[in-house]
Amino acid sequence: MSGPETSVSRFSQATIPTHNGTLTVVVYREAGRRAEEREHVAIVAGALDALGGAGPVLARVHSECWTGETLGSLKCDCREQLDRALAAIEEAGRGVVVYLRQEGRGIGLGNKVRAYALQNGGADTVEANLALGFEADARRYDLAAAILDDLDVRSVRLLTNNPLKVAGLRTAGVNVSSRLSHWVGENQHNSAYLAVKRRKMGHHPDQSGQLRAISSARARKG
Ligand SMILES: [Zn+2]
Repeated sequence: MSGPETSVSRFSQATIPTHNGTLTVVVYREAGRRAEEREHVAIVAGALDALGGAGPVLARVHSECWTGETLGSLKCDCREQLDRALAAIEEAGRGVVVYLRQEGRGIGLGNKVRAYALQNGGADTVEANLALGFEADARRYDLAAAILDDLDVRSVRLLTNNPLKVAGLRTAGVNVSSRLSHWVGENQHNSAYLAVKRRKMGHHPDQSGQLRAISSARARKG
């Protein structure tokens, strides 16, 4: 599944109690990098050694967003998307969030904040990245493919609104059996950003029915 140019190795793992239940955190290190710069994480719900069996795995591939997830920035919806994904895998009883340390859609925190400065001057998220000499989306998905391969995940039901992510993962060798929309709330600060993601980056605007379907299935079981 993973190409020979991509190498990650499992470094450590432990269960951690969270407000989304007890999750297993598996840390990977990228080969050839200074370790502290390039660690990625798989966050697993359910038994780790049984993750890959029994059909497609509920999964999200999520890129780090320090401003949203740590600072609580209202410019994007990353924190809500991460939290919703962790709640979904916990509720499903089996799933994984692959958390990639590629801040700012791959351009790094420093350049992301430069892009924010341009946005404060009127540029949108795509225009700002292009003005700084970056692609609109510089993320790469071979790392996620290598991590899923290590976890014996052969097929995923992917939580995302981003068709480029589905295409990128498929190119990297991941079998995406279906896409589950993963739309979270807009606010006055991120509505323009989300509109650009829909208009210029092809993100699907449909509302999520899938997570509610999971919830109601669980409720019926309970
Ligand atoms: Zn964000």
